[in-house]
Amino acid sequence: MNCVFCSSGNAVKNGKRRRSVRTKQSYICMNCGRQFVEADGFERMRHRPKVITRAIHMHEDGFSLSKVQNHLWQYDNVKVSRETISNWTRKYSVFLKSGARNGKTGDKWKDPRGREGRPRREGKRLRP
Ligand SMILES: [Zn+2]
Repeated sequence: MNCVFCSSGNAVKNGKRRRSVRTKQSYICMNCGRQFVEADGFERMRHRPKVITRAIHMHEDGFSLSKVQNHLWQYDNVKVSRETISNWTRKYSVFLKSGARNGKTGDKWKDPRGREGRPRREGKRLRP
């Protein structure tokens, strides 16, 4: 298991919580000593579309998953696992590719249900 903080791969199961009705497996990192719960990617998609699109674009522009992960953490205060980012790229790049990539009008967000979201203009955009 990779640590969500330092990506060290030294995280082990933290067996303190026995009742796991809806409790997620928690882990503790032997490298940095922090605890976290298992990342579950999309099920509760509470990440902003902006973050997701940025992650996908960065990855498609050649950044590694851990670079993207680090960027999201540094700039957006968003903690995601590399698996999550990888899932995003697989799941959403299709939607983003339709139109967005050629014209660089890529701020429009279409969610998987085909609804079109408002383009968000908050703050600065990432300039690679
Ligand atoms: Zn760690």
